[in-house]
Amino acid sequence: MSQESVGWGFVGASTIAREHMLAAVRAQPGHAVVAVASGDAARAEAFAKEHGIARGYGGIAALLEDPAVQAVYISSTNEQHCSQALAALAAGKHVLCEKPLATTLEDAKRMVAAAREAGLVFATNHHLRNAATHRKVRALIDGGAIGRPLFARVFHAIYLRPQVQGWRVDNPAAGGGVILDIGVHAVDTLRFALAAEPVEAIGMAQAGFLSKNGAEDGVMAVLRMDNGVLAQIHAAYTVRHADTGFEVHGEQGSIVARDVMTVRAAGQVLLRDAEGERAVPVEHEGLYVVGVRRFCEAMAGRGRPAASGEDGVRSLEAALAIVEACKSGRSVRIAPPDAVR
Ligand code: NDP
Repeated sequence: MSQESVGWGFVGASTIAREHMLAAVRAQPGHAVVAVASGDAARAEAFAKEHGIARGYGGIAALLEDPAVQAVYISSTNEQHCSQALAALAAGKHVLCEKPLATTLEDAKRMVAAAREAGLVFATNHHLRNAATHRKVRALIDGGAIGRPLFARVFHAIYLRPQVQGWRVDNPAAGGGVILDIGVHAVDTLRFALAAEPVEAIGMAQAGFLSKNGAEDGVMAVLRMDNGVLAQIHAAYTVRHADTGFEVHGEQGSIVARDVMTVRAAGQVLLRDAEGERAVPVEHEGLYVVGVRRFCEAMAGRGRPAASGEDGVRSLEAALAIVEACKSGRSVRIAPPDAVR
C-alpha cells in the first residue's frame, strides 16, 4: 500500500475521535480522514462538517462501500466494536479498534482471527504503551535498573468528565464500567512495562457512587503476573483530587512514574536505588500520534502495530477476570497466552 494516499474512515462520531484521533491521523504524511459514520446521519454530517471531513454517513455500510476508505478507526461504544470490525475486515479494510476490543473474550478472538484470515492489519488503540514515560519504565526494567521486579502499582483513579459519563456510568450492556474502560488500560500497561502476562486476578469493586444500573465506578484489584510480580490496580471515576501514577518495585530499586496514566504526553519518571533518587529524562511525544504512526507503518508492511489485536485480547481477558473476581469474591485464573492465540 502506498504511504502517499491512505484514506481513513472513522466509525463513531465520538469524543476520542474529535479530541485526539483526527489530529493523530492528520499528523501522518499522506494520510487523511475521508469519511465518518455514525448511527445517526445528522450527527455524522455535523461531525464531518465541523472537522473538515468530506463525507458523513448514517451507518457503517455506506462508509465501507466508499472506495476512498482503506483504513477504518472504530471508536463507537464498546458493544458495537466486534460487529463493526468484522464488517470492516470483510470489506478488506485495515482496522484500528478502540479498547476494550469487545465486551466478551469470544468476540475479541473472532476479530483477531478474522484479521489474520484476511491478512489485514488489526490493532488495539492502547495508547499508554506509546508514552515516552512507559517506554522508559520498560527500558529501565529490561536494563536491570531495579533488579528483579517484585511489585507494581497502578494509580488511575480520576474524576470522569461529565461530557463522557453517559454510557460509561449507566450502561453495562454497552461495555460501560470502570474495569473495561480504565482497568483494561492498566492491564495493557502492566503487560507492556513488565513484559509479562497476568495469570490470576482478585478484586473488589464499587458501584453507585457516580454510576447507575450496576456499572462499576471504582475498583481495587491485584493481578499475579507470570514472572511472579504482584500488580495492584486502583481505577475509579469518582476521585477528584488524586494524581495518577505507575510504580514498579524491584529487589535493587524502584521506579516511580507520576502523572502518566493520561491521554497527555506528560509525566515524569524517577529512579530510586542505593544511589538515591534521580529523574530519568524522557522525550515526550503525542501518544496517539505514535500509535497511529506504528499502525501506518504496519499497513505499509513495516513492522507491527504498537498494540496488536492479540494485545487487545489479553488485556480484555484480564479485565474480564477482574470483573468476575469482583462479582464472585474469588480469585480467577487467566489462561496462558498460547491458549488464546
Ligand atoms: P463517546 O460517548 O464520545 O462516543 C461513543 C459513541 O457515542 C459515538 O460513537 C456516538 O455514536 C455516540 N455519541 C457521541 N456523542 C453523542 C451525542 N452528542 N449524542 C448522541 N450520541 C453520541 O465516547 P468516547 O469517545 O469517550 O469513547 C469511544 C470509544 O473510545 C470507547 O470504546 C472508549 O473505550 C474508547 N476510548 C479510548 C481511549 C483511549 O485512550 N484509547 C480514550 C477514550 C475513549 P455513533 O457511533 O452513532 O456516532
